[in-house]
Parts: sequence; structure tokens; C-alpha cells
Amino acid sequence: MNFLEAKILADGVVKPGNVLKVDSFLNHQIDIRLMKKIGEEIKHRFADVEFNKVLTIESSGIAIASAVAYVNEIPVVFAKKGQTVNSTDDKYVAKAYSFTHKKFNEIFVSKPYLKSTDKILIVDDFLANGEASAALIDLVKQAGAELVGVGIAIEKGMQPGGAKLREAGVRLESVAIVDSMDAESGFIQFREQ
Ligand code: 5GP
Repeated sequence: MNFLEAKILADGVVKPGNVLKVDSFLNHQIDIRLMKKIGEEIKHRFADVEFNKVLTIESSGIAIASAVAYVNEIPVVFAKKGQTVNSTDDKYVAKAYSFTHKKFNEIFVSKPYLKSTDKILIVDDFLANGEASAALIDLVKQAGAELVGVGIAIEKGMQPGGAKLREAGVRLESVAIVDSMDAESGFIQFREQ
């Protein structure tokens, strides 16, 4: 069992509706030592490829993406959310359905922060249905930048996001993959990696 799996077992709470609550160390209070370890782990997993920028989505991806960027000494850009983005002259815009908020968001990045010369590692806290990652990949494509891969803290393997990305040939690394969980008993099973 790795350090993140151990932390999830110790402090994560399984909620009905396939939701894993990790507010005590990731989504409300942030355990900075743990962020650093996740940053180092994702750096290690992508050690054989070059990237010059980390891309994530506000707000819960920012802490992990910042940790990955910090240990690599590169910038982190976060896509902003807006209900509807009026002008696309100066921004790349994509649509994403939010698993946690059950609504569509338009997300955008201002053009100067994503360039065709950029090699991008996408980082997020959770991967569930893959909507957030797909929207971020869309932004990378619009900019003509290179997608190096996707690094995730917690993938929920019972939802289709991970399989969709891997089938599409995207290099995906998840520090912990939850394959099943049960809200009543609190049971959590991880995938062997
Ligand atoms: P997806 O777009 O892959 O369906 O969902 C990813 C996003 O939804 C993540 O950025 C994360 O904020 C949120 N999310 C999805 N599942 C969970 C979950 O079980 N727990 C928490 N805390 N966030 C989740």
C-alpha cells in the first residue's frame, strides 16, 4: 500500500453516490506534506518525459498541481470556470460537466498562458468520468500545445474516465486507484499498481 492509499484509508470518508470525501487533507484542509509527496510521486512517474508547464482546473486541482509544479520548478496554469464565456478572442474555451456540482461549466485559459511551444502535464485531484480531463485536453489542443500526459492523485476506477483516457492513448498516471468503495461499511479497495 502506498502513502496516499494509506491516507485515504485513515482519513477518507465514503459517501453515497460514489463520492470519496477527502476534506481533511485535500479538498478543504490541505496537508502540505502530503501534497509534496504526491508532487514528487507524479514527478517520478513522468521522469522520462519533458514538460514545461502544469495545467489544472480550479479550484480543487490547484493544490496538487502546484505541488507538482513546485518540485519540477515550472509554472502551473489553472483553467477558470465561468457559466458562459462571452468572448473567445483572447481565450481558449471548453465545456465540462462537473461531477461534484452536477452542471455544465465553461472553462477557459487566457491565450498567453498556453502556447503552441508548451509541453503540458495535466494534473487534477480526482479522475471520475473524465469530463474535467477531456476539457483540459481540448484546451491544450486548441492552443496547439503538446500533451505529455495526465497525472492524478485519486482515480476512481469504477467510473469510466481512466479507461477512456487510456483507450485514447493518453499516458495516465494515478497515485491511487480506488476500484470499489461502499458508503455503508466504509470499505475501500485499491487497484494493485
Ligand atoms: P470527472 O470530470 O473526471 O468526472 O471528475 C473530476 C472532478 O470532479 C475532479 O476535479 C474533482 O474535483 C471532482 N470529483 C470527482 N469525483 C470526486 C470524489 O469522489 N470526491 C471528490 N472530493 N471530488 C470528486
